[in-house]
Amino acid sequence: MKLSFFKLSLVFLSIFFALSCEDKSLPLTGQEMTLETTVINVTNHNGRAFDTGKNNNGSRYFTSGPGGGVMMQAFYWDVPAAGVWWDTISSKVADWSNAGIESIWLPPCSKAQNGAFSMGYDPTDYFDFGNYNQNGTTETRFGSKTELMSLISAAHSQNMKVYADIVLNHNSGGASEANIYTGGNTWTDFSGVASGKFPRSQHDFHPNNIHSNDLGVFGGFPDLCHDVANVQDWLWNRNDGVGKYYRDTMGFDGWRFDYVKGFEPSVINQWNSNVGGFSVGELWDSNVNYLEWWANNANSSVFDFACYYKMNDAFDGNNLALLYDDMMWKRNPFKAVTFVTNHDTDEIWNKMLAYAYILTHEGYPTIFYQDYEAWLNKERLNNLIWIHNNKATGTTSILYADTDEYVARRNGYNGNPGLVVYLNNSNNWQERWVPTNWNNTVIKDYTGHSAWYPTTQGNGWVKIQCPPKSYSVWSVN
Ligand code: ZN
Ligand code: ZN
Ligand code: ZN
Repeated sequence: MKLSFFKLSLVFLSIFFALSCEDKSLPLTGQEMTLETTVINVTNHNGRAFDTGKNNNGSRYFTSGPGGGVMMQAFYWDVPAAGVWWDTISSKVADWSNAGIESIWLPPCSKAQNGAFSMGYDPTDYFDFGNYNQNGTTETRFGSKTELMSLISAAHSQNMKVYADIVLNHNSGGASEANIYTGGNTWTDFSGVASGKFPRSQHDFHPNNIHSNDLGVFGGFPDLCHDVANVQDWLWNRNDGVGKYYRDTMGFDGWRFDYVKGFEPSVINQWNSNVGGFSVGELWDSNVNYLEWWANNANSSVFDFACYYKMNDAFDGNNLALLYDDMMWKRNPFKAVTFVTNHDTDEIWNKMLAYAYILTHEGYPTIFYQDYEAWLNKERLNNLIWIHNNKATGTTSILYADTDEYVARRNGYNGNPGLVVYLNNSNNWQERWVPTNWNNTVIKDYTGHSAWYPTTQGNGWVKIQCPPKSYSVWSVN
């Protein structure tokens, strides 16, 4: 016991001496501060921002700034029913656009089995947008077709893109029919959909005369077979089919594909090559190899569930060194859509650190409606969105990480200086010398959390600080 106490005292003594030496040497005169560090260059490309592509008229919408855009997930589980949601979102798009939001992701907008109560993920009639009396209601949970179309044009008038949530793994709400493939009765008769468009029967679902199944079924829902010509025609080939009707008549600019684990990535690849527009798949899996394989084969972006789970472990488990680990945005920042929570999963409690992470790093960051409108500080989120759009440029290098501190650098692009982000998950203010790309330059913290205006040394090194349980983001003043 005595021996270990003695050792401990020595440790404290040396820390004390180290601190006092450092204090005496400040301010530095003539001699430059240089510290050992291992800079990890995470991405390697020419520095360009994530690009969501052109809309279907070929004109660019939102001018998001050099850092790229930010997506808003414009719903949660369960939004108020009674057909008011499209109008609720319409009333917010101007504010969101002013805050720097580039695009909105809407819930599945067509009539589903559960009618006025459904969140849309049990689709019956892809062409009933709340304009047919079917499944017990005319309007969907979110409103009427007219209200949906006026929401889309309200968003377009704010130069924002609108992404539709497309459920094409399964259907629900068909009539029962005798099924020659199963020998029993199945709910696969969609020949009577009110719109009269995309009639389906047992031959369009698994099992059928092509095969017994694809990669996955969802719940007990009839599982669409994308190898059937009728299905391919109505989903992406026909000009009056789902993809092109949603694009040309409804005005959607892109797609969020639900439950893409349920079928081959070639399905989304065919949709994208026939319909076009921005595309992101919900592949709910933390395996980066799987995410990257899917994104390449689907020719689509993918939600970065690897990043999501790493952030949960890093921020809630108090080990920021886990942010060194592999994530989809590190594999391919141009096919990664990052997020902190969504309508299905909300596990990260340390949310502002997570938003500070995704809004300063690469990929296409998503803001969750409830975080923005109800749960977190909107001014703080708006500040991070501004930083993302204006300063988060170039490739990424990690400068330092341990259990409760993390410092990374965006290396700038095309004259934009980039940034240095400092995350602090400890209960104390932290300071750290870090290597920047800026020499003899005054920098500041664009979050306003620190009042310092330090000048970088001739070799780029500078000392920055971060408040407890918070973040700071430094760039050229
Ligand atoms: Zn099939
Ligand atoms: Zn399936
Ligand atoms: Zn957690």
